[in-house]
Amino acid sequence: MQKYNGKSVFGGIAIGKTLIFRKNENQVRRKHITNTEAEILRVDEAREKAKEELQELYEKAVIEVGEQNAMIFEVHQMMLDDQDYVDSVIHMIKTEEINAEFAVASAGDNFAEMFASMDDEYMKERAADVKDISNRLIKILQGNSDSGIQSEVPYILVADDLAPSETLQLDKSKVLAFVTRKGSTNSHTAILARMMNIPALIGVNYDESCDGKDAIVDGYEGALVIEPTIEILDSMKEKQQEDHYKKKLQLELKGKDNVTLDGKRIDIYANIGSVSDVAAVLQNDAGGIGLFRSEFLYLEKHTFPTEEEQFQTYKAVLENMAGKKVIIRTLDIGADKQVDYFGLEKEENPAMGYRAIRICLNQPDIFRTQLRAIYRASVYGTVAIMYPMIISVDEVKQIKEIVQSIKDELTSQGIPFHDVEQGVMIETPAAVMISDLLAEEVDFFSIGTNDLTQYTLAIDRQNPKLDPIYNAHHPAVLRMIRMVVENGHKGGCWVGICGELGADTTLIEEFINMGLDEVSVSPNLVLSVRDKVRNTNLSDPTFHSKKSREVY
Ligand code: PEP
Ligand code: MG
Repeated sequence: MQKYNGKSVFGGIAIGKTLIFRKNENQVRRKHITNTEAEILRVDEAREKAKEELQELYEKAVIEVGEQNAMIFEVHQMMLDDQDYVDSVIHMIKTEEINAEFAVASAGDNFAEMFASMDDEYMKERAADVKDISNRLIKILQGNSDSGIQSEVPYILVADDLAPSETLQLDKSKVLAFVTRKGSTNSHTAILARMMNIPALIGVNYDESCDGKDAIVDGYEGALVIEPTIEILDSMKEKQQEDHYKKKLQLELKGKDNVTLDGKRIDIYANIGSVSDVAAVLQNDAGGIGLFRSEFLYLEKHTFPTEEEQFQTYKAVLENMAGKKVIIRTLDIGADKQVDYFGLEKEENPAMGYRAIRICLNQPDIFRTQLRAIYRASVYGTVAIMYPMIISVDEVKQIKEIVQSIKDELTSQGIPFHDVEQGVMIETPAAVMISDLLAEEVDFFSIGTNDLTQYTLAIDRQNPKLDPIYNAHHPAVLRMIRMVVENGHKGGCWVGICGELGADTTLIEEFINMGLDEVSVSPNLVLSVRDKVRNTNLSDPTFHSKKSREVY
C-alpha cells in the first residue's frame, strides 16, 4: 500500500483503478522559414479555427457546468485576440524567421512565465490558460485534433495538470475522481471538478508506477491510497455509502416541506458558531438558524469584540440567510467556555457558576455592546434573540429593561432597527418549573437539552466517565420537554429544541406528537431529520400503543 497526501478541492470518496493522463506534448521543432507572411497567415487561420473550437466547448460547458463556469472558454477566445500575445508571435516570426509553431510555443512559455511570477493569485492562474491556448494553436498548426482519454471502464484520473478544455472533453460518466500534481484551489479545473461533483485532489506528488492500480481517493482527508488494505477498503466503502445516502437526501429532499404523512409540520433549523457555517446551512436547506452560539465570536479573540465587529458578523449572517430567521443566543461564556481576557475566577463548580446571563447582567457593558450590535443588524433580515441559563422571571425582567434602554438609545441616535422576537433558553430545571410564568414574558422558548439533561440528572456533561448514564431519553427530561411545550403554548410562545436531542430521529415523532414547533440541529443533520419527519405517521395505531411512552 502507498499513500500520497495532497489538498482536497472537493470532498467525497472514489474507489477504482487509476489512469495516468499524459498530455500529447506537442513536439515543436524550430525551423527556418523565408516566407514570413505565409507563416503569419497560418497563425491567423489557426487562431480562427481555435476560436471556433472554443465556441463549441463554451456551448458544451454552458450545458454541463453552467454559464458562470463556462466563461473560461470565452476568456480563452479573447486571449487569442490579445494584442500583446499576437504581436509577440508575429514579431518572432518576422525577426527570427522561424516557423509559426515555434513562435507560438515560445510566446506561450514567455507569457506563462510572466503570469506565474505575478503576485496576484488570479493572475498566477492565467499561466495555465495561456499555455492551454498556445497548445491548442500548436495542435491546429500541426494538423492534430483534440483527443480525450478513451476508456471503457470508470477510472481515477491522475495527471500532472489538467487544462479546463482537457477536463471538459472527458467522458464524465467514466471519471471517478481527479488527482493532479499541480493546480490550485481556485483554478478552473478545480471549479469544474466541484461542479461535476467528483472528488478532486491537487498537489499530489504521485509516482508514475501507480498507473492502472487499485486505488482510493479520499476527498475528505486529501489522500490518494494505492493498493489499499482490505480494512481500509472496507471502511472507505462504508464512508462512500454514507455519502451516497446524503447525496440522495439532498437530491430528493431539498425544497421539500418538513411534514409528516398525516400532515403535521415542524420547522427544522440549524445551529451555527460562525459566519462560515452559513454555507452548510443553505446547502442543507435549513429553514433558518435556530441557535447562533455567539460566544464563538468572543472565544476566537484576545480581547472583547467591538460593537462594530459584532454588527458586521450578524449583518453578514442575516444577509446570507436572506430573510430566513436567525436566532442569536447572547453570550454564553463560562463553564467549559473560558476566555482569559474576561478574567473569570477559578470556580469549584463552573457549570453552576458565574456564567452566561449571570455575567451579562452583572457586567451590563458587555451585554449592551452585544445587544446594540444585534439591534443595528436587525434591519438586514429576520433576527431573534434568546438568553441562556435563565432561572427566574426577575432575570427576564432585567433583560427587558436593558433591551428597552438600548432601543431608546438607538431611537435617540436616529439608528434604525426592527422589532426583534425575544426568547429564553430552557436549560435549567428551574426554568422548566416556571415555564408558565416565563411564557408571559417572552415570544418563544428554545430547550437546551444538553444542559437541561446535565442539571436534571446531576451529571456533568463534560465527564466522560459518566457518559453511559448521561441519558437524554430519561423520562425526567422528556416529561420536562412536554411540560415546557404545554406551558409555552398556553402562554402564546412557540417552542423549539436546540440541544443535541433535537436531532435524535428516534424521538422526533414524540416531539411532533407533543406539539413541538421547531428543532435546531447541526446543518449536516437537517435532511436526515426531514427524511424521518416525512416518513412518520402519527395516526398509525402502533405509535400510540407504544408502552414506553406512558412514562412521560
Ligand atoms: C444546550 O445546553 O442544550 C445548548 C444548546 O447550549 P450549549 O450546548 O451551547 O450549552
Ligand atoms: Mg447550554
